[in-house]
Amino acid sequence: MIKFHPNEQMLKAFSAGELPLSLSIAMSAHIELCGECAAKTAKIEAQLSNDTWQGEQIEEANFGDMLQAIMSQAPTQQIKTVHKPNNITHVGGNDYHLPTAFRQFKDLKWSGFGAVSRARVINDEQNVRASLLHIAAKGQIPEHHHKGYELTLLLDGSFQDEMGTYQKGDFIWIDGELNHSPYTDKGCLCYAVQNAPLHFVRGMSKVLNPLGNLIY
Ligand SMILES: [Zn+2]
Repeated sequence: MIKFHPNEQMLKAFSAGELPLSLSIAMSAHIELCGECAAKTAKIEAQLSNDTWQGEQIEEANFGDMLQAIMSQAPTQQIKTVHKPNNITHVGGNDYHLPTAFRQFKDLKWSGFGAVSRARVINDEQNVRASLLHIAAKGQIPEHHHKGYELTLLLDGSFQDEMGTYQKGDFIWIDGELNHSPYTDKGCLCYAVQNAPLHFVRGMSKVLNPLGNLIY
């Protein structure tokens, strides 16, 4: 059962089309896996369209403005509705079925370091890097923190860290300098978004930096 969800503020920003692509993908994928957030989002979207069509703006808005508003929301809508079968990626000896939001990324290229494999998804959103990460069974990421945020959406398998044990669909947002060392017993596939490099708490940088560079 999914225990970790995006907060209300993120659901609203997603529904309004205000999130950058990196986070919009995570929200779309979580909503696909989480009935609870899908229902909340549907409510927010109904409310938003109500506000738009019944509010005072409608009297002031001319057709051009409305059209522009619709056009500027188009990419987000596309992410949510494009549906093609067979969105499968092969990594770590397994085939994984990816949520709809990942179908726009063809030919994911996996590279690896130890138990960790990474396929970069977004690299051009200022400091934000977004990747699919696969960690093989018994794999661990040494204790680290981030100067910024780290979002992990668990797409398959499970892992644990100092805060708890996570299941498929969990949306884990870590802000600030909290230290953690994720470990997976049976292996997992995640979507990870970070806006700052990993800072390893202990261990030799010579050994750990290649791993940090792979992830961020
Ligand atoms: Zn949820």
